[in-house]
Amino acid sequence: MDSRQLIDRRHLDFLLHEVLEVDDLCRYARFAEHGRETFAAALDLAQQIALDKFLPHNRKADLQEPQLVDGKVELIPEIGEAVAAFCAAGFPAVLADYDRGGMQMPFVVGAACDALFCSANAGTIAYPTLARAAANLLDVYATDEQKRLYMQPILEGRYFGTMCLSEPQAGSSLADLKTAATPRADGSYAIAGAKMWISAGDHELGENIVHLVLARIQGAPAGVRGISLFIVPRWRVEADGRRGERNDVRLAGLNHKMGQRASVNTFLKFGEQGDCVGYLVGAPHNGLAQMFHMMNEERIGVGLSAIQQAAASYQYALAYARERHQGRHPDQKDAASPAVALIEHADVRRMLLLQKCYVEGGQMLAFDAALLVDRQYDADESVREQSHLLLELLTPIVKAWNSDYALRANDLAIQVFGGYGYTRDYPVEQCWRDNRINPIHEGTNGIQALDLLGRKALMRDGAALRLLLERIAQTCALAATDTALASFATDLQRAAGLVGATTQAAGRRMAAGEVRAVLANASHYLQLLGHVVVAWGWLRMAMAAQRALAAGTAERDFYDGKLQACRAFFAIELPQVELAARLLADSDRSAYDMRDAWF
Ligand SMILES: Cc1cc2nc3c(=O)[nH]c(=O)nc-3n(C[C@H](O)[C@H](O)[C@H](O)COP(=O)(O)OP(=O)(O)OC[C@H]3O[C@@H](n4cnc5c(N)ncnc54)[C@H](O)[C@@H]3O)c2cc1C
Repeated sequence: MDSRQLIDRRHLDFLLHEVLEVDDLCRYARFAEHGRETFAAALDLAQQIALDKFLPHNRKADLQEPQLVDGKVELIPEIGEAVAAFCAAGFPAVLADYDRGGMQMPFVVGAACDALFCSANAGTIAYPTLARAAANLLDVYATDEQKRLYMQPILEGRYFGTMCLSEPQAGSSLADLKTAATPRADGSYAIAGAKMWISAGDHELGENIVHLVLARIQGAPAGVRGISLFIVPRWRVEADGRRGERNDVRLAGLNHKMGQRASVNTFLKFGEQGDCVGYLVGAPHNGLAQMFHMMNEERIGVGLSAIQQAAASYQYALAYARERHQGRHPDQKDAASPAVALIEHADVRRMLLLQKCYVEGGQMLAFDAALLVDRQYDADESVREQSHLLLELLTPIVKAWNSDYALRANDLAIQVFGGYGYTRDYPVEQCWRDNRINPIHEGTNGIQALDLLGRKALMRDGAALRLLLERIAQTCALAATDTALASFATDLQRAAGLVGATTQAAGRRMAAGEVRAVLANASHYLQLLGHVVVAWGWLRMAMAAQRALAAGTAERDFYDGKLQACRAFFAIELPQVELAARLLADSDRSAYDMRDAWF
């Protein structure tokens, strides 16, 4: 396959411009100097660097994972070259203000640029995107001095960053984290503890690494309310910005991963020699809320990255199904007739179509959420408030639905390749391995489901969910006026009704004390709401396709493909919400009542 086929830019442009109409953002003062041309220029540049610098070493980085040599992390040189190209093009500051040297792009356009890198090489892109997320957090919560010393060098591509939450004994349950922070006479803190699984935790790609570390100040309350956030530089930084002496942060070991091997994963020890200095960010005991600023952005990033890795394997499978010839149609008895291309077989088309449904539906969901981040710049306070509410609700779905269904798409891509898909001769097995992390990190999908049903769906008396259901109803009302789409509108409205009724019933039962039993089915709820939201996205894509077809477009195949995928999602996937809703309504107790001893 020509590597250029890896990225379906036509579909990306369709989503951004014809469905989400991102050009509308240019009426906000913040983005007034942008327009379709500057968005396209950023995407073109990202696409070129992704294909020229990130894609070519994707396989090599998988085969030659990071090594610990004389206490230092050794990466293949191509990783450094790709990251340097990313930084030289200004992408660390793609979202940052002009006066910080940034491009001041909308978040959704930055996300679209990232998407291209993720398709090409999800491991290598982790270094600069993690750093950028750290810089974005500092932009919101750090002092001016901290921004000058630690954020600005990240934006300039000189420093990198990490997020250090997890500890060996505390992963999902951050309330149990033990890393300690002891006040020092000069206002800084002595940090002591161990952090596990830290992505990009140690390397030589830049001048310094800014670790954002969650720790507990001595005497802090127990649980998440006692957690504070600290800047812990790998190298101390002098007041004039020069690099000082080495901080007491030690690389204790590397974790050897199934996939995404380009990005080194580390076990770090802070303060073993009693001399690890950290600087408090924001108010004490507010660390988790601040870190969530980074994690929410990261969760949209995870959902997008997952679906882009599925987009890659979908493109590989599509090209393979067109090239390889095998067998004949069921009613073709003549063994001398030529074999047909795999794509001629309806079952192969079924697998490709499902991949298209998951991939393009998941992209729509992720970019829709990303656009809500930009709506925070709207002059109208109610738009800002509603966008914030919707984003809160959609974030766990973007993270979990996308990463679950991206893996299903990877799996189907392997199946399209048959035996070759199971070998390392083709890239689809790596796509699956690379993607397998996404349901796990940034809060497992099980934790996302608990957050969705236990908190987000019911927060503020269900205000976010009501808003979402109103938006869906508005789309359905519009779609119902088009005879080609009216049945989709009816089906989606019925499914949305199921969400409303199911949520209310779950809320009532939780209020009556059945919290554990109700939340035992939280993953089914995420599947239910996720499918409804993705169906909503498909209906909006179908409406855009109908508009183009009615206007007499020359790209009939492109738009007919959207309508057919919408049909498939509504026919094959959407009915599954009935089962999820029934499990919740009947409060299925199979998992809840199962006993340890019965396994
Ligand atoms: C490759 C990789 C990169 C990572 N990068 C980072 C990083 O940069 N920074 C960082 O801080 N962390 C990072 N992590 C850590 C990651 O966020 C954790 O692995 C994750 O949060 C899960 O924690 P755990 O591994 O301790 O699993 P556990 O918390 O032990 O969970 C194990 C299983 O139990 C379930 N479970 C746990 N608690 C509950 C509960 N209350 N209710 C229901 N089910 C529950 C989980 O869903 C999961 O299925 C990374 C991990 C990996 C593997």
